[in-house]
Amino acid sequence: MVDEKKLHALREEALAEIAAARDERALEACRVKYLGRKGQLTNVLKSIAQLPPELKPIIGRLANQFKKEIEAALRQAKEEIKKRQEETLPGIDLTLPGRPYPLGKLHPITQVMVELCDIFLRMGFSIASGPEVELDYYNFEALNIPQDHPARDMQATFYLSGDKGVLLRTHTSPIQIRTMERERPPLRIIAPGKVYRCDSDVTHTPMFHQIEGLMVDKDVSFADLKGILTLFAQETFGSETRVRFRPSYFPFTEPSVEMDISCVMCGGEGCRVCGQTGWLEILGAGMVHPNVFRAVGYDPEEWVGFAFGLGVERIAMLKYGINDIRLFYENHLRFLEQF
Ligand SMILES: [Zn+2]
Repeated sequence: MVDEKKLHALREEALAEIAAARDERALEACRVKYLGRKGQLTNVLKSIAQLPPELKPIIGRLANQFKKEIEAALRQAKEEIKKRQEETLPGIDLTLPGRPYPLGKLHPITQVMVELCDIFLRMGFSIASGPEVELDYYNFEALNIPQDHPARDMQATFYLSGDKGVLLRTHTSPIQIRTMERERPPLRIIAPGKVYRCDSDVTHTPMFHQIEGLMVDKDVSFADLKGILTLFAQETFGSETRVRFRPSYFPFTEPSVEMDISCVMCGGEGCRVCGQTGWLEILGAGMVHPNVFRAVGYDPEEWVGFAFGLGVERIAMLKYGINDIRLFYENHLRFLEQF
C-alpha cells in the first residue's frame, strides 16, 4: 500500500529523471512511466479509493500536487530542450519528422518476366542471352528467313546500317542460333529479352519483351511441346485454364502452331476482350525447322526440338486487365505503383 514516504520517493525519482532527460524522446518516456495510462503515479491515484478513510485525503492531496509538479517539470524541460536546439541549430526544428524516401520497386514487366522465367526454370530450363544489336544473319538468315523472304515484311525492322546488315533484333530467336552454335545438344533454354519493331499503337510499342524457349534432344516430340506449354499456361493464368493449339506458319518451325488460352476475363463464355470467341492467343511455337539445325551444324536426322516465343507485355496485359500497352512505358508513378 502507498504511504507518504513512498509517494515522496516517487516524486524525487520522477523529477530527477526529467532533469536528466536530454531529448524529447527521453522526456516522453518519463511522462509515460509516471503519468501514462499505466504510469506509477497514475496507479497511485487509481488506488486511492481502496485506502483507509483517514489516509484518503492526505495521499489524495499529495498525489495530485505531485502530479501537477511533474507535469510542470515536463513542460519546462521540453521548453529547455527546444531552446537548446534553437541555439545550436537556429531555424532548424529537429522535432519535425524526417522526409521518407520512397522505396523503389521492380517495373511490372520485369516482375512478370521474372515470374514467367521462374516457371521454366522449375521445369529444368536455363537462361541464355544475346545481343540486342544483331546481325541480319542471326536475326533472319540462320532462322530460315533468307533475303526477299516474305516473312521479313511481317517484322518491321529497325536497321542500323545502310546495307541492312546490322539491326535491332526483331525477336529473341537469334539467341537460339547463338546458343546452338556454342553448345552441343541436349539443350533446354529460355531467352528473355528486349526486342524492337517499327510499330506503335494500343497493342504495340517499338520496344517490347519476349521470352524465347528452345528444347533439343534425340526424342523430343510435339507432345512434349504441348505438355510444357500447357503447364506453363496453367501456372501463369491458373489451373482452370484450358489451352488449344491452332496450325500456323513461322519460317523457323515446321509444323508451327499458335497457342490460345481460355479467356481470362470471361472463362470462355465470350466477351469483348476475346472478341466473343472465348479464346486468347498467347504464343507461337513449333518443331524446329531442319534448315535451322543445318545452319548451326546439327544433324536434323539425329536431333529434334521445339521452340516457342511469347510476348511478355501481352501476358502482363491479360494478367492485370490492362488495355493499352503504352501505359507500361509512360512512367506514370500512379500507374506503376499499383503492381
Ligand atoms: Zn472473354
